[in-house]
Amino acid sequence: MVDLNERNEILDRISDAFFAVNSDWEFTYINAEASSVLFPNARMLIGKSMWSEIPHAVYLTLYAQFFKAMQEQVRVEFDIFYAPLAVWFSVRAYPSSSGLSIFFQDITQKKGISLEKEQHYESLFKYNPDAVFAFDLEGNYLRVNPAMEQMIGYRADELLRMSYLPLIPPEELEKTKSCFYKAAKGITQHYETKAYHKNGGIIDVKVTNIPIIVNDEVMGVFGVAKDITQENNRKTMLLQAEKLTAVGQLAASIAHEIRNPLTSLKGFTQLIEKTLPEVNKNYFAIMKDELKRIELITSELLYLAKPKAQEFKSENIWQIIQDVVMLMSSQALINNIELRTFHLEEMPAIPCVGVQLKQVFINLIKNAMEAMPDGGMIDIVGSRPSGDSIMVQVIDNGHGIPQELISKIGSPFYSTKENGTGLGMMATQQIIHAHSGSLDITSQKGQGTTIHICLPIGE
Ligand code: ADP
Ligand code: MG
Repeated sequence: MVDLNERNEILDRISDAFFAVNSDWEFTYINAEASSVLFPNARMLIGKSMWSEIPHAVYLTLYAQFFKAMQEQVRVEFDIFYAPLAVWFSVRAYPSSSGLSIFFQDITQKKGISLEKEQHYESLFKYNPDAVFAFDLEGNYLRVNPAMEQMIGYRADELLRMSYLPLIPPEELEKTKSCFYKAAKGITQHYETKAYHKNGGIIDVKVTNIPIIVNDEVMGVFGVAKDITQENNRKTMLLQAEKLTAVGQLAASIAHEIRNPLTSLKGFTQLIEKTLPEVNKNYFAIMKDELKRIELITSELLYLAKPKAQEFKSENIWQIIQDVVMLMSSQALINNIELRTFHLEEMPAIPCVGVQLKQVFINLIKNAMEAMPDGGMIDIVGSRPSGDSIMVQVIDNGHGIPQELISKIGSPFYSTKENGTGLGMMATQQIIHAHSGSLDITSQKGQGTTIHICLPIGE
């Protein structure tokens, strides 16, 4: 009988790579050839589980075959192409009561032509402009191509340690899981979903999941995915533009319809005020206020109809906001709201269309007031975020906006108010963009909302 050392020496001298695992898949022996070809860190592997220590060993055919050998206690023999080394192996696994003995023989030379064919397929994977990846049946990544790394921002070695689950936003998870599950049952699935990019953003993806079938059995799932975020954005913008045109036409006709009767109403109101001195003066004040309001609404609508190119003049933001605050102060008082301004005097003049910026601040203050039905505080704060721009923040402590609804604000007709038009923020955004500025919204539900407006100072 050979002793242990002698046996190891023999096994080390055979030219095939050889290793053994026990019935828990833990490495019990790795010979010299196997360490040099397959497991550079062989010494650390003894006693550890094969599937957890070398995830890329969960190569699909291999996985299935080894399980078969172990469970059915039969000898298995098969050829595999091991992509990381570009090598063909003939693999034999022999079962014993204590585990499996596995031999790997390099048959790349013998395969010759087949190898070329395999590389053909390998190219389809490696150079595919679409993201291509393979999963095990639990949804763990087994292989990913460079396009996948590019699309999702994670490197292959990061992906190969995880499943797809943490990459899917909660609202898409149910659907995505169900599609994956069906593919794992053998039915190809096409669907659209969303995924977290490593940079924290969310991308829209179009996915095909294809079952990997070996000997009539589903061994895993292939995925092919395409980033369609830009395509979707374009679609949304197109839709928005269409809606805008519709709004514009509607606005123009309504505004015209209202303007003419308004003129005569105004004229006659003035006339009656002069000729009937015995009528309560308060009525006239109210009527004139209401008429002013109608005029304001029609001008907002007309602005939408034709955002006409108006001349930019250098104006003082402080002056503009001061006018607006004056205009709104009585309404603020009635609603128990305090309007305060800070640091606006220190702002440099900016090139702008004054009446349009007034409209912006009227809209923002109106919204802020409407978010505080029980009164509160509106602060309008000027600052200089950079040398070439100014920032004006309109801060309220109203009911706030739920995070998921912030992106909807500014779409035509989007309103949460019973009598809202859902046009104010859209007009506001249009004006700010026409001034090459930017508008951002931050809000805390129940705490309040801040609208940040940045405007360039220009030369
Ligand atoms: P409207 O005021 O007619 O509803 P807007 O376009 O002005 O239309 O505003 C759209 C929606 O944005 C509002 O209905 C409201 O839900 C939300 N909103 C805008 N500003 C605020 C704010 N300061 N606080 C809370 N919600 C706001
Ligand atoms: Mg509004």
